[in-house]
Amino acid sequence: MEHNKLYDVGTGLPTRSLFEDRILHEIARSKRLDSMIAIMSVSIDTINRIHETHGHKASELLIKACGHRLNTVLREDIDTVAVVGNIEKVVTISLINQAEFGILLTDIIQTDHVTWIMKRMVDSFDNPFIINDNEVYVTACLGVSIFPHDGKTPEELYSSACNACNFARKISGKDRYLFASDNLNKKAATQLQIESLLHEAILKNEFHLHYQPKINTATGQIDGFESLLRWQNEQLGPVGPDQFIPIAEQSGQINKIGDWVFYTACRQLRDWMDMGIEVGSIAVNMSGLQLDQHNLITRIQEILDEFKLDGHYLEIELTESSFLNPDKKTLARLDRIKNMGIRVSMDDFGTGYSSLAYLRDLSLFGLKIDQSFIADINKDKNANKLIASIISIAHSLKLEVVAEGVEEKHQADYLIELGCEYLQGYYFSRPIPPQEVMDLIQGQQAASHDKRTSEREIKGITPCFKK
Ligand code: C2E
Ligand code: CA
Ligand code: CA
Repeated sequence: MEHNKLYDVGTGLPTRSLFEDRILHEIARSKRLDSMIAIMSVSIDTINRIHETHGHKASELLIKACGHRLNTVLREDIDTVAVVGNIEKVVTISLINQAEFGILLTDIIQTDHVTWIMKRMVDSFDNPFIINDNEVYVTACLGVSIFPHDGKTPEELYSSACNACNFARKISGKDRYLFASDNLNKKAATQLQIESLLHEAILKNEFHLHYQPKINTATGQIDGFESLLRWQNEQLGPVGPDQFIPIAEQSGQINKIGDWVFYTACRQLRDWMDMGIEVGSIAVNMSGLQLDQHNLITRIQEILDEFKLDGHYLEIELTESSFLNPDKKTLARLDRIKNMGIRVSMDDFGTGYSSLAYLRDLSLFGLKIDQSFIADINKDKNANKLIASIISIAHSLKLEVVAEGVEEKHQADYLIELGCEYLQGYYFSRPIPPQEVMDLIQGQQAASHDKRTSEREIKGITPCFKK
């Protein structure tokens, strides 16, 4: 009897009683950890119809299969899918509008993750279920509430989720999910809008690359550029990569966008070379997810061949998280990239795991110290010490160091004193469009031909770093 109170007989999933117990437990835990939890209400629209046409057994099988499918989207042993409406009751008294499943997600750091999971849940119903040899399509709508924002008790939280679910039912189209709180709804709406507009961005020619110079501290000259993606959309105006790249990563569009970036940077480099403009190497940012693509290597080689480029003109910047628990295939892809002569660097060093083991094992070309450290130079004694240590560790591992986000002269001076190889930041130049890159390089080339002007500032680049 105790078991039947906690687990639904038909599906084996937790019942509402156990669901609420778990929420209560997680509320206490998330208060201690200062994290969030999400409670979802999921309603499957078609159950009642199935009951009428295929009978009670079929609708029960379908509910069980839906519960199983929802579980595949969630983290095993961490999240909970519960049957909150008693199936018998739901089916026999035809409570078509009653939500069937309750879901509890724990340890939420960002609400974006919840949006992502809700979308995946809706998508998981794209494929039909086979019930008694019949293909059955179902649609789901979802409502979600977040602790601590939308309620204090399990009852309050679940009821806000149900209200959101009822609103979500009114939305036409496929993505019927809503947050209980208005602010989150607005955020979710913007994200969805960004995601749908991103689909057409390449086709509509809305992406551009800007380039930011890297200064070689030994010569005081520009030694290469980092390409940075820009998106100008008709409806949204300019949207920063910090805003749309994570969305593209979640929705799987990042591979197509990453491909466009690499292709465009290579084509640009070829154009400059043909014009006799020596820009040095071009660094391209790559999302760790791109390393999972099975055809990544072939595609990179194809692009290099098309523009007759040697790999050593290119550099790939990957953030630390890309190197987290890489599988054998990923490591093999990294090796193949390095074998093409492309340099691989670790971006944003110091913000994530800062694992020395990765630095040792991956034989990377270099690391970029995150701009948050650079901003603290001479403001915070520890920042100076930390930067000195990072540079010294990097050098002992034979890695070259780029400091990003250099905005002031005193920061540049300190980094040069420590032997940092490259500097990048607004102090020298903002990321600029291709036409300005040409002007900048031509200015630098002219200055180096003319000794009298070599001390002159060229567009903010001060060629005075020769020690
Ligand atoms: P990131 O790779 O760390 O790039 C450096 C960011 O700092 C850029 O922001 C750049 O414009 C900005 N920045 C450069 N110098 C300074 C400075 O002196 N001060 C300050 N405050 N900021 C400076 P942006 O262009 O908005 O790019 C943000 C992030 O978006 C990048 O961070 C990168 O992670 C990502 N991203 C940009 N383009 C791409 C791309 O093509 N592919 C992928 N996967 N990610 C990209
Ligand atoms: Ca970067
Ligand atoms: Ca950074």
